[in-house]
Order: sequence, then structure tokens, then C-alpha cells
Amino acid sequence: AAAGLLATGSMAACGDDSGTDGGTNGGSSVGKVGVILPDTQSSARWATADTTYLKAAFDAAGVPVDIQNAQGDKTQFQTIADGMISSGVKVLMIVNLDSGTGKAVLDKAKAAGIATIDYDRLTLSGGANYYVSFDNVAVGKLQGEGLVKCLTDNKASKPVVAELNGSPTDNNATLFKEGYDSVLKPKYDSGDYVKGPDQSVPEWDNAQAGTIFEQMLTENKNIKGVLAANDGLGNAVISVLKKQSLNGKVPVTGQDATVQGLQNILVGDQCMTVYKAIKQEADAAAELAIGLAKGEKKETGQTVTDPESKATVPAVLLVPKAIYKDSVKDVVADGFVTKAELCTADF
Ligand code: BGC
Repeated sequence: AAAGLLATGSMAACGDDSGTDGGTNGGSSVGKVGVILPDTQSSARWATADTTYLKAAFDAAGVPVDIQNAQGDKTQFQTIADGMISSGVKVLMIVNLDSGTGKAVLDKAKAAGIATIDYDRLTLSGGANYYVSFDNVAVGKLQGEGLVKCLTDNKASKPVVAELNGSPTDNNATLFKEGYDSVLKPKYDSGDYVKGPDQSVPEWDNAQAGTIFEQMLTENKNIKGVLAANDGLGNAVISVLKKQSLNGKVPVTGQDATVQGLQNILVGDQCMTVYKAIKQEADAAAELAIGLAKGEKKETGQTVTDPESKATVPAVLLVPKAIYKDSVKDVVADGFVTKAELCTADF
């Protein structure tokens, strides 16, 4: 497997890259921005990338920001929001834990005259002023196409495909599924692929994903490919496959280009991941928030329709990218992970 890493060329040397810290805010008189992130277990991104890039963007603009993480707790989410609202934030940016509790927070903020941004996840019927995310149907399409590519490389004949979807309360999970099913369903319909178990993972809980997949595999030993909706779910699947020495034989997809996901790709246990440049997402959201904190009116050029309320929401939707073994180096080149982080893998 070490050859896989060396084969990526630019990653042969595992030097030490140290990160930089955000800097200081200028203490200007513009309004403060509050940011609430969802948890730290459903994806590594929330513990690191989003916080780092958002902080850097606000610091660079000299706009005070308070970034907190609700640790998967909906009550905690509301408590943080109440605190931010009463501390007088001018802009509130949230990644909801579900649309119901997200909407309650957005409603309170709006009643207090605070501008609101849905960051990454649309809050259904939430009526946020802006939505900043990726084209999430496109994310799912890349996952579906990735699984097809890896099954084709494996010369799999009429493979049974299992689907492990994200949280049923995350609108993104619905969009990802719409994307990958648009690729997989025609394969099921034509008889090229056999539709296997298809289940959602509450709260994107990685531990539950392992239990769910273990059961899928017990009931259907013939599973030949797994559409896992993110790297955390994919890693849970890979851990189960390892116990049966099936890792590397059954392609598994992912999302987020996490260190663990990229390492799984380099050793051949994961087929692909979807890289979403979180820096672009954080920068776009911060740019909007900074403008709003300064009392400006911002245009985004794009919109989405809230599928529940049918409201039109001004949006920024960024373009995701599929990553395979030979393009892991692109994620390094983009500065999202360092060679050193990937080289802590057990090669
Ligand atoms: C995000 C993904 C993330 C997942 C679990 C989704 O809403 O778009 O990047 O992997 O939540 O946290």
C-alpha cells in the first residue's frame, strides 16, 4: 500500500507542514457575527476546517465573530443561539441539526432584527436571508458515478449495491441521495446492478452506521459495492468489511476529503471521496456576513427554492470535485490537508 502513496508523486516525502493561526480582529465598531456549527462526530470538517477558515476570514476583515459548536445537542444549539441573540449579534449563521430546531432559532433571530445565513444545510421553511453551500445534488452524482467507475474497474457483474444515506433530518442528505440515485436507479432498472439494502443513518452517527452496515452484510453477504454518503459512514463500513477481509474488494464511496477518508483511499480501501473546498464555502459565507454586519445589502447571483415553503432563497452554490487515488494530491495542493497529516497513516 505504501506504493499507492508514493505513486502520487508529490507526496513521496512526508515533511512537516505546520498550520497558521487566524490572526486578530481589528476591534472595529461593525456588528458581531455569531456562528453555530452542528457537532463534531458526523464529519471531521465541523471540528476543524470550517472553524479555521471562518475565523481566518472574519479576523482578516476585522469583524468580531463568535463561533460555537452545539456538539449534536439540540437544546445546546438553542441555548447558544439565545446567548448570541441577547449578546447583540448583527448576523447569525447556522448549520442546523434539523429543520425544526433550526427554524425556531432563525425565527427568534429574525424577530430580533438579526440577519440570518443557512451555512451548508438549508433549514426547510426557515426563511433564512441567505444560503451558502455546494451543489449537493452534484455531490451525490459524483458519488454515484464514482461507485460505477470502481465497480467497472472491479469488473463486477450484476453487483448488489448497498446504500447508506445521511441523516433523514438533513436536507443535504436528501439532495445527495437524489444525485446518486439518478445514477444508480437506471442501473437497477436495466438489471446491470441489483438494488440491495438502502438505509439512512440518524444524525450521520458513525457508530450507528457500523451497526447498520454489519446487519446489512449479515443479511446480504453478496454486497459488492457501498454508496456511503460521507467519509465517516464510509470508514464505519470499511471497519466492518475489514473483519471479513473484504476491504479493498468492495468499493465504498465517501465525502468531505477527511484525513481518514483520504488515507482509506490511498491504501485502497475506499473508492473515492468528494472534495468540497470548505475554504471557498467559508469565504463566501463570511463575505456575506461581513457585508451584512456592516449594514450592506448583498447580492449572490443564484437562488434556491425551499422545497417545503417554496420560498426563493438567495444562494451561493459551489462546485464539488471527485477525488480518486490519483488525485488525492490535488486536495494537498489546494492546502486542505498536508502531506504530513496523510503520512501518519499506517502504511
Ligand atoms: C454536510 C457534509 C457532512 C454531513 C455530516 C452534511 O450536511 O454537507 O459535508 O459530511 O453533513 O456532517
